[in-house]
This record gives sequence, structure tokens and C-alpha cells, in this order.
Amino acid sequence: MPLDAETRPIFLDTLRRFVAETLIPLERQVAETDEVPEAVWAQMRELGLFGLTVPEAHGGMGLCMEDEVRAVFELARASPAFRSVVGTNLGIGSQGLVMFGTPLQQARWLSGIASGAIVTAFALTEAEAGSDSAAVTTRARREGAGWVLNGAKRYITNADRAHLFTVMARTGEAPGARGISAFLVPAGLPGLQIGPPERKMGQQGAHICEVWFDDVLVPDDALLGAEGAGFRVAMATLEKGRLHIAALCVGAASRILEEAVAWARTRIQFGRPIIEHQLVAGMLAESQAELLAGRAMVLEAARARDAGAPIPLEASAAKLFCSEMVGRVADRAVQVFGGAGYVADTGIERWYRDVRIFRIYEGTSEIQKLVIARELARAPQPSFNS
Ligand SMILES: Cc1cc2nc3c(=O)[nH]c(=O)nc-3n(C[C@H](O)[C@H](O)[C@H](O)COP(=O)(O)OP(=O)(O)OC[C@H]3O[C@@H](n4cnc5c(N)ncnc54)[C@H](O)[C@@H]3O)c2cc1C
Repeated sequence: MPLDAETRPIFLDTLRRFVAETLIPLERQVAETDEVPEAVWAQMRELGLFGLTVPEAHGGMGLCMEDEVRAVFELARASPAFRSVVGTNLGIGSQGLVMFGTPLQQARWLSGIASGAIVTAFALTEAEAGSDSAAVTTRARREGAGWVLNGAKRYITNADRAHLFTVMARTGEAPGARGISAFLVPAGLPGLQIGPPERKMGQQGAHICEVWFDDVLVPDDALLGAEGAGFRVAMATLEKGRLHIAALCVGAASRILEEAVAWARTRIQFGRPIIEHQLVAGMLAESQAELLAGRAMVLEAARARDAGAPIPLEASAAKLFCSEMVGRVADRAVQVFGGAGYVADTGIERWYRDVRIFRIYEGTSEIQKLVIARELARAPQPSFNS
């Protein structure tokens, strides 16, 4: 559902103020402690942020894609670790249920996901199945009226906080994508173990862990979508997720550029603000132009999705362009800040590290190019070029 013309600016303004007044002042603390304070989780629940994309019938806001990306533009102006608190619930943790869940599964899980009482995680990646995600070896075998899962997943966001995992596991003997099914696996089941949070380059406060399944028994109705259709569930979920990540890159780039411009206006060298030196101004202008291009791409793809069009190419193109774009914007910002961009005090080096992951997760830049090329090879040609 799109927000109406009256509600949208109020909602986005509330988010903007929450980001500016609550999240941004906590960025350094979160980076240093590697924890988002419980109070922030609670405030995000109160604001309804966990349920932005969950249908209203299940207690969420049921935002359309355009409103979702506009909300993400705002949220992503604070350290990406904060968005990670709600990110899985909004995307890969809930949308499989929204798109493929039975009424019973939806009734059981979605209202808790929308309220934030249930935190979700999406478990696809394995040691030998990263970009080649159809190579998963985690297995689910039928046993009585249920399934028994065995295997190991890695780099699973929010695994240490999650109440519900969507797990991709191999069922049957069909090779590749056709042999994969999706399962809803509650945390705390016997045999389900979570590793400690990994140490990583950036986004401290957002945790990823290994997850092990050792004879984990789930009932028959844990199957999400049809048996053997798990890869479709994963790809449909990721298509939407890629546009969400692209919006995240746009929001982050807008904040980084704003910081760089503010610095360039006040830092004096050779008797004038460095923004008046053309080589510095050129870096800022390039970042601004690329940011506007990325924003336009995301909004156009979001509107196309809202109009019912399939957008695999557009979502991948937006994710590819925007994740590379925010990397360039962050790199130029470090340059504009000079030495102050390299030391930790200004926070710019943290942004530089934080945004690096956007070119890797939910499909690397190389995988996005493969998706775009695959769509181009299809006939008829996609309509967006007209
Ligand atoms: C912070 C973080 C959060 C994550 N969260 C989750 C999560 O919640 N759930 C989850 O399931 N996973 C998650 N992941 C995993 C993430 O999606 C994978 O790391 C990513 O898909 C890449 O897989 P890989 O690391 O195995 O790299 P690889 O697949 O080994 O890729 C290595 C390099 O080879 C390139 N490459 C591989 N195949 C090709 C090809 N055919 N053509 C050209 N180049 C190729 C890649 O682009 C890359 O540059 C997360 C990872 C991180 C770091």
C-alpha cells in the first residue's frame, strides 16, 4: 500500500528526526562496543520499523516499494549497523513468508515479525556455496511427519538474536537449484547451534555468525513454498532485497557527501575553503551527480515493481550501480577530509569500511552483472530502454 499524500511526509519526517536525534549521536558508541543498545531496539519497535514491509493485515505498515526505498533513504543516513537491526525482518527474513507462506504460516509468524518481537535471519550461504548459492549441501530428509536438517551455514546476519531462520536446504536428489527447499526453523530447537559473532571490517553492531544444524527436527508445515521450490523463494526474496540494498547505498552516500561538503566549506587551505579549489569541488560534484543518478534508478525500479512489473534486471542494475557508487563517494570523502579522513575521529574512515560490504552481500557486483547480462540475453528485450 502506498502511504497517502498527507501521511508520507509526516512518516518520513519522523524517521529523519529519529535518525538525526537518536541514531547519529550513538554511531561511535555502537562502533566501539559492537552492540546496538537495547533502547534503540525498543524505539525501533515503537516506531513500527520492523513491520514496514509486512502487510497491514498482519500488523505491519505494508509499504509499497517506493515508500520502502524512501524510508530506507532516511534510515541509511545513520551507520548501516542500525538498519541491520530491522533489515532482515523487512527483507530476506519476512518476504519469503509474505510471498510464499500459507495463511497458517503467515498467521503464526508475521505479526511477531512486524512488531519486532520476532527477529528473523535468512540462512542461505555456506562455506562452499556463496555466489554459487544453488550449491548448498545442507540437507533436509523426511522423517515421519517432519524433516530433519543437517549442515552448516555461515555469515548469517542477526543469527545470534534471531527467533526464526529461513533455511535453504537440499531435499531429494535433483541437482542444483531444483533440489532446494526453504524451511522456517525456530531458534532454540535441539541440534541448532549459533557461533560467536565474526570479527569483520565494518558495520560493528551488526552481527554475523555461523549456524549449525545437527539432526534438527522440524514439522512438515515448516516447509515454506513447495518442496523443491526453495531457490525460487530465495531469488524472489533477494530480487526485492537488492533494491532495498541499493536504496541503502543511496541513503549512506547522501550522508557521506553531506559530511564531505560541510568539511570542504570550513577547512581552509591556501587562504580559502577547500571547496573553492576546483579539484576538490570536482570530487564533490562527481559524487553529487552519481548520487542523483543512483537515487533516480532506485525510485524508477521501485515504481515499476509497484506497477506489477518484474524487475530482475532493474534491481540488479540498481544494486550494482549504487553499491559501486557509494564506494566511490566514500573514497572521495576520505580524500576531501585529507588526514582527518584517515584517522578515526571524524567517522569518515568508518563509513569507508562500512559501505564496502554492499558490493559483496545479497549478490556480489560480479553476480549482478551476470544477472543483468542473463536478462539482456532473453527475448524479448526488456522494456525499460524505451
Ligand atoms: C556482513 C555479511 C552479511 C551477510 N549476511 C548474510 C545472510 O544474512 N544470509 C546469507 O545467507 N548470507 C549472508 N552473507 C553472505 C554473502 O551473501 C556472501 O558472502 C556473498 O554472496 C558472496 O559469497 P562468498 O563470500 O562465498 O564469495 P565467493 O562466491 O567465493 O566469491 C568470491 C569472488 O569471486 C567472484 N565470483 C564468484 N563466482 C563468480 C562468477 N561466476 N563470475 C564472476 N565472478 C565470480 C565473486 O564476485 C567474488 O568477487 C553475508 C556476508 C557478509 C560478509
